[in-house]
Parts: sequence; C-alpha cells; structure tokens
Amino acid sequence: MNIPISEIEKLKKAIETADFIVLTGHQNPDADCVGANLGLFHVLKEQRKQVQIILPNRFPDNLKWMPSTDQIVVYEKDTELASQYIQKADLIFSIDYNHFSRTGKMQNALEQAKAQKVIIDHHPEPDIYHITFSDTSVSSASELVYEVIKHLHSESIVNIQSAECLFAGIMADTGCFSYNSSKPKTFLNVAELLEKQINKDYIKAKLFDNYSIERTRLMGYLLSEKMVVLPEFRTAYIVLSEQEKEKFGYKIGDSEGFVNLPLSIENINFSVFIMEHEGFMKMSMRSRGNFDVNQFARKHFKGGGHKNAAGGKDFDLKLLEVADKLVSLLPQYKEELLNS
Ligand code: 5GP
Ligand code: MN
Repeated sequence: MNIPISEIEKLKKAIETADFIVLTGHQNPDADCVGANLGLFHVLKEQRKQVQIILPNRFPDNLKWMPSTDQIVVYEKDTELASQYIQKADLIFSIDYNHFSRTGKMQNALEQAKAQKVIIDHHPEPDIYHITFSDTSVSSASELVYEVIKHLHSESIVNIQSAECLFAGIMADTGCFSYNSSKPKTFLNVAELLEKQINKDYIKAKLFDNYSIERTRLMGYLLSEKMVVLPEFRTAYIVLSEQEKEKFGYKIGDSEGFVNLPLSIENINFSVFIMEHEGFMKMSMRSRGNFDVNQFARKHFKGGGHKNAAGGKDFDLKLLEVADKLVSLLPQYKEELLNS
C-alpha cells in the first residue's frame, strides 16, 4: 500500500498545529465516503481535536446508524454555516474523491479556503494537494484512512465508533468482500477492526438488508421490464426515468447497487445504469475484467472513476438519447468487451 512516510510526518505536524479541521466527502456520498470520514472523525475527537465533517449533499438514510452522523453538516442545506467552517479551517481533508470538482457546489469554497489540504483517496489521477495519500489498489477509502491512522499512531487509537464506520465503508465498497478485496492485507485490516468488538451482522443488516418496500419493487420492475441485454457486446443496461422514480416513491440512495445486478448474468462484462435527474442524466458503469470503464466514462461522458466502477453525467442529451449514444459506442469496443 502506498503510504509515504514523508507524507505521514507532514500530516502529523499539520494535525498537531491545526486548531480546526474540516473533513469532506464527494457529492452523493456513499457508505465508503461517510464511513471513511466518520472513521477519521472519531480518531481526531479521541485526540481532542476540533473537527467538523461537511458533505456536499444528503447521505442515504441507511447510513444514519453510524455514530455521530447527527453532527455532519450538509453544505446544500446549511450553506452559510458550512462556508464559515471551510473558511475557518486550518486543515481540510478530501476523503474518497480526487478533485474538488467532485463536491458540486462546494467546489469554490474549498478552492478558496486558506487551509492546508490533504487527500486520502483511491481514485486515479488525483489533483495536487499539500499532503497526498492516493492508492488505486486499495479496497476502499475507509481502508486507506485506517492505514493512515495506523501510520500516524497505532491501531490502539481506533475506538469502536471509528471501527464500525471504517468496517462499514470497506464492507460496502467491496460489495460484502466480493470485489476489490483480493489482497490478504484487506482481510488483516478487517480482522483488526473486528477485534474492536464491532457487530458485523448488525452492520451488514443496516447496509444491505435495510431497504424500503418501494426500492425492492423498483428493483424487480427494472430487472423484469427495463433491463436491455446485448449479448453480442456482453453488455446490459437499464434506464430509469423521473416518471418511474416518482411512481416507485424513489428516495435518494435507492438506486445504489442496481448497476451491479446485470453483472451477475453469465457472460455479461459491462453494465450501465442511466438515471434521469432534474437537469441532467447520471450514468453508473461497472465492468468485469479488463474493460476499463474509467477510460470509457472519461472519454465519452465527462466522467471517471475506477477501472471497474465509474460514472458520468450528461447535461445535454435526453434520457433515451444517452442510451442511444451508449449503444452506438459499443461496436468500437467489441473486441475489448468480448475479451474482458
Ligand atoms: P457510482 O456509479 O457508484 O455513482 O460511481 C462509481 C465510481 O465512479 C465512484 O468511484 C465515483 O467516484 C466515480 N464517479 C461517478 N460519477 C462520476 C462523475 O460524474 N465524474 C467522475 N470523475 N467520477 C465519477
Ligand atoms: Mn465513494
């Protein structure tokens, strides 16, 4: 794992001298993002530091059980307060994202902030920060945060609250240890977190067995009525309109994980989920094997992400036009898709 000792030394000093620390995550924060932020938050609290988490917008309800989520400030909701915190900060962390543009409306405030800036992230091509911990080979931002904490102190500073959040982040970002989790180190780290007496089954149930009836019915509808399978490209995609979201009582976070579903079909290597939002279309992409969805999303949909999990947005096309564009691109990737 890439944890440069020089960066650890710099961060140690920066934390020591900072009077006020702000931790931030990306827009539409997921379990790894929130878990990584809270994991570090609880350790900094343990050190009696003044620390505030600020997220660009709401996080899903099924993460509310994480200790101290009630102390998180949401920029979109409390813009004035969040801006004051960002201005006041001596040290700002970017956790689970690689560029301030991934924070939506918060971008400007973060760029203008006088604070020293630290990145702890696992996405490719990070922006330039004062202090950098970036490793695309790590399972999750939460595991990277845990490694940074251990290098700063020792694992003994990680309390049960921190361990619960970090474990949840790793569990979620690896789909219950099914992908991005082939390294023994990940399981060693998870074993250490389990030593903190956290309740694994409780966390699993909160993350994966906690959906609304509406979300479950929406999933059934999408799989039976909306999934398009293109075996000649080993690709499947699903399109979800605003109207359908309304019909199924869609709530933020409800579509989490839908993009993975078609990958459980034999021989499907590439899956895309396209969802209509007010003013733009959001795409999620997942692949199996060598087909690089980060490159695909960057090149064609102004997006990015990881090799096997990426996303993008389109502000110009209509929902079905995005699907048409996707399908029209597939022939040029046929070789790669078939051999992925
Ligand atoms: P998801 O499909 O879960 O929204 O995102 C999958 C991965 O792609 C995440 O790691 C996320 O950081 C990245 N991603 C999603 N949407 C975008 C986007 O619009 N731009 C960039 N650069 N990355 C994205
Ligand atoms: Mn994330």
